Amino acid sequence: MDAGPDSLSRFLLRGAPVRGEIVSLDAAWRTVVERHALPACVRNCLGELSAAALLLAASLKFDGMLVLQIHGDGPVALLVVECDAGGGFRATVKIREGAVVPEEARLTDLVNADGRGRFVVTLDPRTRSPSRQPYQGIVPFEGDSVAQVLEHYMGRSEQVPTRLWLAADDSRATGLLLQRLPEEGGRAAPSDADGWNRLCRLADTLRSPELLELPASQVLHRLFWQEPLHGFDQRACRFSCSCSRDKVASMLRLLGEAEVASILTERGSVAVRCEFCNLGYGFDAVDCAALFAGAEPHSAPGQSQ
Ligand SMILES: [Zn+2]
Repeated sequence: MDAGPDSLSRFLLRGAPVRGEIVSLDAAWRTVVERHALPACVRNCLGELSAAALLLAASLKFDGMLVLQIHGDGPVALLVVECDAGGGFRATVKIREGAVVPEEARLTDLVNADGRGRFVVTLDPRTRSPSRQPYQGIVPFEGDSVAQVLEHYMGRSEQVPTRLWLAADDSRATGLLLQRLPEEGGRAAPSDADGWNRLCRLADTLRSPELLELPASQVLHRLFWQEPLHGFDQRACRFSCSCSRDKVASMLRLLGEAEVASILTERGSVAVRCEFCNLGYGFDAVDCAALFAGAEPHSAPGQSQ
């Protein structure tokens, strides 16, 4: 199975039976890294969460946005990854003002220092209807890694045995997901009684450097070369931010004319920076007047990096 950079591949280990996915974020992940100056341990947790979000989105057969958030009580207040059904994702982190991030901090130290961390999963359908409403699941933070937190959540909500192996550094964010499938047709005796455990033990031999350095196809070969593995599809993944000048304009209108006027008086212009892609949106006095005159500004100045 040939899986290129910035892609997610799904496969089936038919004997067990187990379904799996492997994701490799390369240039797409570096786009996130370049736009946020983050301590290495925080950056790696965000990379693992990004890989996990794409794996989860691909396993849910859900058309809409999947948002994973870790609300932290430590130096990191929030880790958030949003992804769509088409492999687009964006990610950001909020570090508490003045917080000192220890160099080798573990996820627990970063977000669950006092045991008040929360993991939040939101599913927002692309088209809403009475039967398709946003769903939000909130669970206490349990586990010492992004993979463990997700496994705990999946065990509680989906009740499908699911395991994840994740790794990230400054140039890649990668992940492997295995999910146990029910036996076909309710057969009395499973075809491979120990299949799930055997495959998990194999994947447990995977070390982070291998996950980070080897192409996805080699990771799968290294782990499962003796298993009947069927690759069945592949999708591209990419960094994709949904911010726009129009959305910032709507946000400023919500803020209200008086508030915008007071920022203008204080700073001479209104500057809003997207927390996901770091793109800056500038509104001068003329642009701001246009916001509240019910018309868009004719020129579109002030898009600056
Ligand atoms: Zn943006």
